[in-house]
Amino acid sequence: MIVTVSQAADIILKGGILAIPTETVYGLAADAFNVLAVKKTFEAKGRPADNPLIVHISNLKQMHLLCDDTPEIADLITTSFWPGPLTIVLNKKQTVPDVVTGGLHSVAIRMPDHPTALELIEQTGPLTAPSANKSGRPSATRPEHITSDFGKSMPILEGNSPGLGIESTVLDLRSDTPLILRPGSITAELIEEKTGIHVLPYTSKSEGLENSPGTRYTHYRPAANVQIIDHIPTHIEGNIYYIIHSSTDSAPLPNVYNYLGDFDKLAQDLYDHFRQADHLGYSQIMLEELPDDKKKPIISALRDRISRASS
Ligand code: AMP
Ligand code: MG
Repeated sequence: MIVTVSQAADIILKGGILAIPTETVYGLAADAFNVLAVKKTFEAKGRPADNPLIVHISNLKQMHLLCDDTPEIADLITTSFWPGPLTIVLNKKQTVPDVVTGGLHSVAIRMPDHPTALELIEQTGPLTAPSANKSGRPSATRPEHITSDFGKSMPILEGNSPGLGIESTVLDLRSDTPLILRPGSITAELIEEKTGIHVLPYTSKSEGLENSPGTRYTHYRPAANVQIIDHIPTHIEGNIYYIIHSSTDSAPLPNVYNYLGDFDKLAQDLYDHFRQADHLGYSQIMLEELPDDKKKPIISALRDRISRASS
Protein backbone atom coordinates (compact mmCIF):
# COMPACT_ATOMS: atom_id res chain seq x y z
CA MET A 1 0.00 0.00 0.00
CA ILE A 2 1.65 3.22 -1.23
CA VAL A 3 1.14 6.27 1.03
CA THR A 4 1.90 9.99 0.63
CA VAL A 5 4.38 11.94 2.75
CA SER A 6 1.64 13.40 4.94
CA GLN A 7 -0.02 9.98 5.45
CA ALA A 8 3.41 8.57 6.31
CA ALA A 9 4.07 11.39 8.80
CA ASP A 10 0.73 10.62 10.42
CA ILE A 11 1.66 6.92 10.79
CA ILE A 12 5.03 7.81 12.37
CA LEU A 13 3.60 10.42 14.75
CA LYS A 14 1.01 7.85 15.92
CA GLY A 15 3.84 5.41 16.75
CA GLY A 16 3.44 3.20 13.68
CA ILE A 17 6.03 1.85 11.25
CA LEU A 18 6.25 1.88 7.46
CA ALA A 19 8.68 1.19 4.64
CA ILE A 20 10.46 4.17 3.10
CA PRO A 21 12.59 4.37 -0.04
CA THR A 22 16.14 5.68 0.27
CA GLU A 23 18.83 5.85 -2.40
CA THR A 24 20.45 2.63 -1.06
CA VAL A 25 17.68 0.13 -0.14
CA TYR A 26 14.20 0.42 1.42
CA GLY A 27 14.16 1.08 5.18
CA LEU A 28 11.57 0.12 7.81
CA ALA A 29 11.02 3.47 9.51
CA ALA A 30 10.02 4.38 13.07
CA ASP A 31 10.32 7.52 15.24
CA ALA A 32 13.83 7.17 16.71
CA PHE A 33 12.64 8.60 20.04
CA ASN A 34 9.57 6.37 20.39
CA VAL A 35 10.82 3.19 22.10
CA LEU A 36 7.64 1.20 21.38
CA ALA A 37 7.67 2.12 17.69
CA VAL A 38 11.36 1.19 17.37
CA LYS A 39 10.65 -2.15 19.09
CA LYS A 40 7.96 -2.81 16.47
CA THR A 41 10.62 -2.70 13.73
CA PHE A 42 12.80 -5.24 15.59
CA GLU A 43 9.76 -7.49 16.02
CA ALA A 44 8.57 -7.16 12.42
CA LYS A 45 12.04 -7.96 11.08
CA GLY A 46 12.91 -10.64 13.61
CA ARG A 47 16.11 -8.64 14.18
CA PRO A 48 18.33 -9.52 17.18
CA ALA A 49 18.01 -6.77 19.82
CA ASP A 50 21.80 -6.25 19.93
CA ASN A 51 22.01 -5.32 16.23
CA PRO A 52 21.71 -1.50 16.35
CA LEU A 53 19.82 0.71 13.91
CA ILE A 54 20.90 3.63 11.75
CA VAL A 55 19.14 6.90 12.58
CA HIS A 56 18.16 8.88 9.48
CA ILE A 57 18.11 12.68 9.56
CA SER A 58 17.10 15.35 7.05
CA ASN A 59 19.19 18.33 8.20
CA LEU A 60 22.34 18.94 10.22
CA LYS A 61 20.47 20.61 13.09
CA GLN A 62 19.04 17.20 13.98
CA MET A 63 22.60 16.00 14.80
CA HIS A 64 22.27 17.78 18.15
CA LEU A 65 19.40 15.47 19.09
CA LEU A 66 21.73 12.49 18.67
CA CYS A 67 25.23 13.57 19.81
CA ASP A 68 26.52 16.04 22.39
CA ASP A 69 29.29 17.35 20.20
CA THR A 70 30.51 16.34 16.79
CA PRO A 71 34.25 16.18 16.04
CA GLU A 72 35.62 18.48 13.33
CA ILE A 73 36.26 15.56 10.97
CA ALA A 74 32.56 14.66 11.17
CA ASP A 75 31.64 18.13 9.92
CA LEU A 76 34.10 17.85 7.05
CA ILE A 77 32.89 14.39 6.06
CA THR A 78 29.17 15.15 6.31
CA THR A 79 29.46 18.38 4.28
CA SER A 80 31.24 16.39 1.58
CA PHE A 81 28.98 13.32 1.45
CA TRP A 82 25.51 14.15 2.80
CA PRO A 83 22.88 13.61 1.71
CA GLY A 84 24.32 10.31 0.53
CA PRO A 85 25.10 6.63 1.17
CA LEU A 86 27.48 7.19 4.09
CA THR A 87 26.62 6.38 7.72
CA ILE A 88 28.82 7.76 10.50
CA VAL A 89 29.17 6.32 14.01
CA LEU A 90 29.66 8.78 16.91
CA ASN A 91 29.24 8.78 20.69
CA LYS A 92 25.54 9.02 21.42
CA LYS A 93 23.68 11.56 23.48
CA GLN A 94 22.23 10.04 26.62
CA THR A 95 18.67 10.73 25.46
CA VAL A 96 18.98 8.43 22.43
CA PRO A 97 17.02 5.31 23.48
CA ASP A 98 19.17 2.21 24.20
CA VAL A 99 16.84 0.10 22.05
CA VAL A 100 18.01 2.11 18.99
CA THR A 101 21.70 1.46 19.61
CA GLY A 102 21.39 -2.12 20.86
CA GLY A 103 22.74 -0.96 24.22
CA LEU A 104 25.90 0.63 22.72
CA HIS A 105 27.11 4.10 23.73
CA SER A 106 27.47 5.00 20.05
CA VAL A 107 24.91 5.91 17.43
CA ALA A 108 24.95 5.45 13.64
CA ILE A 109 23.63 8.42 11.64
CA ARG A 110 22.91 9.08 7.97
CA MET A 111 21.19 11.67 5.79
CA PRO A 112 19.68 9.73 2.87
CA ASP A 113 19.72 11.21 -0.63
CA HIS A 114 16.06 10.64 -1.43
CA PRO A 115 13.48 13.41 -1.83
CA THR A 116 10.42 11.80 -0.23
CA ALA A 117 12.45 10.28 2.63
CA LEU A 118 13.94 13.72 3.39
CA GLU A 119 10.52 15.38 3.17
CA LEU A 120 9.11 12.87 5.63
CA ILE A 121 11.98 13.27 8.13
CA GLU A 122 11.60 17.07 7.95
CA GLN A 123 8.07 16.54 9.28
CA THR A 124 8.73 13.78 11.82
CA GLY A 125 12.29 14.29 13.05
CA PRO A 126 14.94 11.50 13.10
CA LEU A 127 13.79 8.04 12.02
CA THR A 128 15.40 4.67 12.61
CA ALA A 129 15.27 2.67 9.38
CA PRO A 130 16.91 -0.76 9.21
CA SER A 131 16.65 -2.41 5.81
CA ALA A 132 13.01 -3.36 5.10
CA ASN A 133 13.48 -7.13 4.95
CA LYS A 134 13.05 -9.99 7.36
CA SER A 135 16.35 -10.46 9.21
CA GLY A 136 18.86 -12.52 7.22
CA ARG A 137 16.96 -12.10 3.91
CA PRO A 138 18.27 -9.97 1.05
CA SER A 139 17.53 -6.26 1.54
CA ALA A 140 14.41 -4.88 -0.17
CA THR A 141 15.04 -2.85 -3.33
CA ARG A 142 11.56 -3.06 -4.94
CA PRO A 143 8.10 -2.50 -3.40
CA GLU A 144 7.18 -6.15 -4.05
CA HIS A 145 10.07 -7.28 -1.80
CA ILE A 146 8.43 -5.45 1.11
CA THR A 147 5.04 -6.95 0.38
CA SER A 148 6.61 -10.38 0.12
CA ASP A 149 8.30 -10.08 3.56
CA PHE A 150 5.66 -8.11 5.51
CA GLY A 151 2.37 -8.55 3.64
CA LYS A 152 0.19 -6.13 1.66
CA SER A 153 -0.81 -4.13 4.72
CA MET A 154 2.69 -2.71 5.28
CA PRO A 155 2.51 0.93 4.10
CA ILE A 156 5.23 2.06 1.68
CA LEU A 157 6.12 5.72 1.28
CA GLU A 158 5.74 7.03 -2.30
CA GLY A 159 8.85 7.85 -4.32
CA ASN A 160 11.38 6.22 -6.62
CA SER A 161 12.78 2.81 -5.71
CA PRO A 162 16.41 2.78 -4.52
CA GLY A 163 18.86 3.62 -7.31
CA LEU A 164 22.01 2.15 -5.71
CA GLY A 165 20.76 -1.22 -4.47
CA ILE A 166 23.55 -1.71 -1.88
CA GLU A 167 23.46 -0.57 1.77
CA SER A 168 25.40 2.51 2.94
CA THR A 169 29.06 2.57 3.92
CA VAL A 170 29.35 2.57 7.76
CA LEU A 171 32.26 4.71 9.02
CA ASP A 172 33.32 4.76 12.68
CA LEU A 173 34.52 8.27 13.58
CA ARG A 174 35.29 7.60 17.24
CA SER A 175 38.93 6.58 16.92
CA ASP A 176 41.88 8.74 15.83
CA THR A 177 41.84 7.18 12.39
CA PRO A 178 38.31 6.62 11.06
CA LEU A 179 37.54 3.00 10.20
CA ILE A 180 35.09 1.56 7.67
CA LEU A 181 32.93 -1.02 9.46
CA ARG A 182 30.78 -1.92 6.45
CA PRO A 183 31.89 -1.31 2.86
CA GLY A 184 29.55 0.58 0.54
CA SER A 185 29.74 2.72 -2.57
CA ILE A 186 31.66 5.44 -0.67
CA THR A 187 35.13 3.98 -0.21
CA ALA A 188 38.10 4.98 1.98
CA GLU A 189 39.85 6.27 -1.16
CA LEU A 190 36.89 8.50 -2.07
CA ILE A 191 36.74 9.97 1.44
CA GLU A 192 40.47 10.66 1.49
CA GLU A 193 40.35 12.17 -1.98
CA LYS A 194 37.53 14.56 -1.10
CA THR A 195 38.44 15.50 2.49
CA GLY A 196 42.14 14.68 2.94
CA ILE A 197 41.19 12.60 6.00
CA HIS A 198 43.01 9.28 6.26
CA VAL A 199 40.51 6.41 6.56
CA LEU A 200 41.21 2.75 7.27
CA PRO A 201 39.51 0.75 4.52
CA TYR A 202 37.27 -2.17 5.37
CA THR A 203 38.81 -5.60 5.71
CA SER A 204 36.93 -8.55 7.12
CA LYS A 205 39.56 -8.76 9.88
CA SER A 206 39.69 -5.04 10.76
CA GLU A 207 40.30 -4.22 14.40
CA GLY A 208 37.26 -2.49 15.81
CA LEU A 209 34.80 -4.69 13.95
CA GLU A 210 33.66 -6.00 17.31
CA ASN A 211 32.09 -2.54 17.54
CA SER A 212 29.90 -3.33 14.55
CA PRO A 213 27.42 -5.89 15.80
CA GLY A 214 25.76 -6.22 12.38
CA THR A 215 28.81 -7.97 10.99
CA ARG A 216 28.18 -10.91 13.35
CA TYR A 217 24.97 -11.98 11.68
CA THR A 218 24.29 -13.66 8.36
CA HIS A 219 23.04 -11.22 5.76
CA TYR A 220 21.81 -10.78 2.24
CA ARG A 221 21.25 -14.48 1.78
CA PRO A 222 18.72 -16.09 -0.56
CA ALA A 223 17.43 -19.61 0.18
CA ALA A 224 19.28 -20.79 -2.95
CA ASN A 225 22.93 -21.70 -2.58
CA VAL A 226 25.15 -18.94 -4.04
CA GLN A 227 28.36 -20.09 -5.66
CA ILE A 228 31.07 -17.75 -6.98
CA ILE A 229 32.61 -19.01 -10.24
CA ASP A 230 35.82 -17.71 -11.79
CA HIS A 231 34.80 -18.36 -15.38
CA ILE A 232 31.57 -18.85 -17.31
CA PRO A 233 31.01 -22.59 -17.85
CA THR A 234 30.87 -23.74 -21.45
CA HIS A 235 27.80 -25.81 -20.66
CA ILE A 236 24.88 -23.84 -19.15
CA GLU A 237 22.59 -25.97 -16.94
CA GLY A 238 18.85 -25.30 -17.16
CA ASN A 239 18.30 -25.64 -13.42
CA ILE A 240 20.94 -23.11 -12.32
CA TYR A 241 20.43 -19.32 -12.15
CA TYR A 242 23.46 -17.51 -13.62
CA ILE A 243 24.54 -13.91 -13.03
CA ILE A 244 27.54 -13.07 -15.20
CA HIS A 245 29.25 -9.91 -16.44
CA SER A 246 32.05 -10.74 -18.88
CA SER A 247 30.41 -12.69 -21.71
CA THR A 248 30.07 -11.07 -25.12
CA ASP A 249 27.87 -13.95 -26.27
CA SER A 250 24.43 -12.37 -26.49
CA ALA A 251 22.38 -15.53 -27.09
CA PRO A 252 19.50 -14.93 -24.65
CA LEU A 253 18.73 -17.68 -22.14
CA PRO A 254 15.97 -17.28 -19.53
CA ASN A 255 18.23 -18.29 -16.62
CA VAL A 256 21.35 -16.28 -17.60
CA TYR A 257 21.64 -12.58 -16.71
CA ASN A 258 24.60 -10.89 -18.35
CA TYR A 259 25.67 -7.44 -17.14
CA LEU A 260 28.36 -6.77 -19.76
CA GLY A 261 30.50 -4.95 -17.19
CA ASP A 262 27.70 -2.68 -15.91
CA PHE A 263 28.32 -3.11 -12.16
CA ASP A 264 26.09 -0.21 -11.12
CA LYS A 265 23.15 -1.99 -12.76
CA LEU A 266 24.21 -5.28 -11.18
CA ALA A 267 24.17 -3.62 -7.72
CA GLN A 268 20.70 -2.26 -8.42
CA ASP A 269 19.41 -5.72 -9.37
CA LEU A 270 21.42 -8.08 -7.13
CA TYR A 271 18.87 -8.59 -4.32
CA ASP A 272 16.03 -8.78 -6.83
CA HIS A 273 17.88 -11.65 -8.54
CA PHE A 274 18.35 -13.43 -5.20
CA ARG A 275 14.65 -13.14 -4.46
CA GLN A 276 13.60 -14.02 -8.00
CA ALA A 277 15.78 -17.15 -8.02
CA ASP A 278 14.08 -18.28 -4.79
CA HIS A 279 10.64 -17.42 -6.12
CA LEU A 280 11.24 -19.43 -9.31
CA GLY A 281 12.46 -22.42 -7.31
CA TYR A 282 16.16 -22.43 -8.27
CA SER A 283 18.29 -24.07 -5.60
CA GLN A 284 21.59 -22.87 -7.07
CA ILE A 285 22.82 -19.44 -8.17
CA MET A 286 26.17 -19.13 -9.96
CA LEU A 287 27.67 -15.68 -9.85
CA GLU A 288 30.71 -14.79 -11.91
CA GLU A 289 33.45 -13.37 -9.66
CA LEU A 290 33.77 -9.60 -9.94
CA PRO A 291 37.13 -8.09 -10.87
CA ASP A 292 38.99 -6.52 -7.92
CA ASP A 293 38.85 -3.08 -9.55
CA LYS A 294 39.61 -0.33 -7.03
CA LYS A 295 38.65 2.38 -9.52
CA LYS A 296 34.98 1.37 -9.46
CA PRO A 297 33.76 2.13 -5.91
CA ILE A 298 30.66 -0.05 -6.09
CA ILE A 299 32.69 -3.19 -6.78
CA SER A 300 34.24 -3.68 -3.34
CA ALA A 301 30.79 -3.32 -1.74
CA LEU A 302 29.28 -5.78 -4.21
CA ARG A 303 32.11 -8.26 -3.62
CA ASP A 304 31.44 -8.03 0.13
CA ARG A 305 27.70 -8.67 -0.21
CA ILE A 306 28.25 -11.53 -2.67
CA SER A 307 30.83 -13.22 -0.46
CA ARG A 308 28.47 -12.95 2.54
CA ALA A 309 25.63 -14.41 0.48
CA SER A 310 27.82 -17.30 -0.58
CA SER A 311 29.60 -18.13 2.69
P1 AMP B 1 20.88 -2.27 8.43
O1 AMP B 1 20.02 -1.27 9.12
O2 AMP B 1 20.24 -3.60 8.33
O3 AMP B 1 21.43 -1.74 7.14
O4 AMP B 1 22.15 -2.45 9.38
C1 AMP B 1 22.72 -1.36 10.03
C2 AMP B 1 24.19 -1.53 10.14
O5 AMP B 1 24.73 -0.42 10.88
C3 AMP B 1 24.61 -2.79 10.89
O6 AMP B 1 25.72 -3.37 10.22
C4 AMP B 1 25.02 -2.27 12.27
O7 AMP B 1 26.01 -3.06 12.87
C5 AMP B 1 25.55 -0.88 11.92
N1 AMP B 1 25.41 0.00 13.10
C6 AMP B 1 24.29 0.59 13.55
N2 AMP B 1 24.54 1.28 14.67
C7 AMP B 1 25.84 1.11 14.95
C8 AMP B 1 26.70 1.56 16.00
N3 AMP B 1 26.24 2.32 16.99
N4 AMP B 1 27.99 1.18 15.98
C9 AMP B 1 28.45 0.41 14.98
N5 AMP B 1 27.70 -0.05 13.96
C10 AMP B 1 26.41 0.29 13.95
MG1 MG C 1 19.90 -5.12 6.86
